[in-house]
Amino acid sequence: SGINFDKFDCIAVKVTGENPPRAIDSFQSANLRKYVVENILKSGYKKPTPIQKHAIPIIMAGRDLMGCAQTGSGKTAAFLLPIINTLLQDPRDLQTGEHGAQPQVVIVSPTRELTLQIFNEARKFSHGSVLKIAVAYGGTAVRHQGDSIARGCHILVATPGRLNDFVDRGRVSFESIRFVVLDEADRMLDMGFMPNVEKMMGHPTMVPLKERQTLMFSATFPEDIQHLAGRFLNNYLFVAVGVVGG
Ligand code: ADP
Ligand code: MG
Repeated sequence: SGINFDKFDCIAVKVTGENPPRAIDSFQSANLRKYVVENILKSGYKKPTPIQKHAIPIIMAGRDLMGCAQTGSGKTAAFLLPIINTLLQDPRDLQTGEHGAQPQVVIVSPTRELTLQIFNEARKFSHGSVLKIAVAYGGTAVRHQGDSIARGCHILVATPGRLNDFVDRGRVSFESIRFVVLDEADRMLDMGFMPNVEKMMGHPTMVPLKERQTLMFSATFPEDIQHLAGRFLNNYLFVAVGVVGG
């Protein structure tokens, strides 16, 4: 796409936390399934960006992550690739129950545009697999989105408000959750979405902190985001690429 990611290579990467796994230097050396690597190459990605080099092995090692990197640095693939790899490696049946459909992955992001971007990337990287991906955002009728959620989905990509609508209607629950991703956490905070995020994290059906993986991404790392990371993440690794605010 004409973006020169080499410019990021000279930016310092800081990793803190217990026993971080080694960064990867190519998608081929990441221990990803052949199918996933093929879909990456089909997307035109030749080598991982700095955040991807660190985040992919951390997530594949089962660790929680707080990732800070500027907009355009490839954070979406940094979490989608290892999540999709894990789901394909260890497929679990889709469940629906008294609390509605039970996604295995929930990804929240602040805007409809970002949610659609993540949804489209997820479809691209899982193309040709059994994985079902659903999307939910506000400003449009609930019905179509609700139908695709009700059919069961492995991955649900949603804005916090619309997600809460589905949860309140008893149409989504969190008892099958394996991954929670909070994308653009700083923007979600600025836009007033934290009560919705808190509600999801503390929902009675939510899988406990230590039995799920939680991944937070943010362009900046001010004190309030640091506090949220401390509460939402378990023994997490922190990866910062370049300059982070706070
Ligand atoms: P961020 O979430 O950090 O703002 P995105 O994940 O939206 O960044 O990625 C920005 C752009 O770079 C997208 O168009 C994406 O497809 C592209 N991209 C991401 N990773 C790579 C890569 N390894 N090689 C080439 N392009 C990439
Ligand atoms: Mg992003």
